[in-house]
Amino acid sequence: MKSPDVSKALVIGGSLGGLFVATALRAIGWQVDVYERSPAAMDSRGGGIVLQADVLQHFRYARIKHSNALGVRSHDRLYLDRAGTVVHQEPMPQTQTSWNTLYNSLLSAFPAEHYHRGMKLVDLAQSEQRVTAIFEDGSCADGELLIGADGASSTVRSLVLPGAGYTYSGYVAWRGLVDENRLPDFAKAELYEDFVFQQAPESLMLEYMVPGLNGSVNPGERRFNWLWYLKAAQGPELGAVLTDHEGRRRSHSIPPGPWPPSRMHTSEKWVNSMPTRHFVN
Ligand SMILES: Cc1cc2nc3c(=O)[nH]c(=O)nc-3n(C[C@H](O)[C@H](O)[C@H](O)COP(=O)(O)OP(=O)(O)OC[C@H]3O[C@@H](n4cnc5c(N)ncnc54)[C@H](O)[C@@H]3O)c2cc1C
Repeated sequence: MKSPDVSKALVIGGSLGGLFVATALRAIGWQVDVYERSPAAMDSRGGGIVLQADVLQHFRYARIKHSNALGVRSHDRLYLDRAGTVVHQEPMPQTQTSWNTLYNSLLSAFPAEHYHRGMKLVDLAQSEQRVTAIFEDGSCADGELLIGADGASSTVRSLVLPGAGYTYSGYVAWRGLVDENRLPDFAKAELYEDFVFQQAPESLMLEYMVPGLNGSVNPGERRFNWLWYLKAAQGPELGAVLTDHEGRRRSHSIPPGPWPPSRMHTSEKWVNSMPTRHFVN
């Protein structure tokens, strides 16, 4: 519970987590500053996201306005076998949004003068009443509350809970977004406005439609989101996935672009898991 003299919060990380908490704290009267390491806008990150009820509840609670509909409605769930044949279909309407739609809506609802880019947290100091964030450029900020929303490799977590880390879940995911107009005709007929699952041994592919890059949900301007989950054993198999085209081993993800698709063919297991009918080239 916020006491009367507690008013200022520092949020480290200005991505989805940081912006959700920052807009929630502002809605209950806190003064909030967000400190984001990245010096540039981040609106091209991420893929499709199922629009859950708690996101809508947050938008209402924090009075966040959005110009377009937040997502694209899907009607049925389709389950395909590896060859692309529909083996089961059932009505299950739901809405899918995208990372950049959420990010842009949250960012535009937060005052720009309190969103500080190019600010990398390197250290913290705490007293009983206050916490001070120390940034790479030598500047400091202080408040009564500091929230670590700085992602999977959180600096805040490593400072507060040294030694705590994350555990590998045993699977990896490839993902992509394709403009709907680039879908082959047979895929348009089968996949339009449905939520599609395609299963093979040790592999699961998901497909659904999301808003376009500019947030549009108009037919012809949306995107098709795909995700392909595959099991990869810890060790050389996982190491191969996480090594980019320059031979650099990444910690948990490869940014868009620098991953040679030919590497996928190095694992016979994955080739055997591939859907035999490709909806997207
Ligand atoms: C189980 C699971 C399912 C997921 N499903 C989806 C999905 O369906 N679709 C999708 O798009 N994504 C998905 N994701 C990914 C996740 O939603 C996105 O990565 C999302 O952006 C996470 O938000 P975040 O704010 O927690 O972290 P991040 O987006 O990683 O943001 C952390 C921010 O902190 C900043 N930062 C880091 N260190 C510092 C520092 N020292 N000082 C200041 N700033 C710092 C970073 O620059 C970054 O902007 C999934 C993730 C998981 C774990």
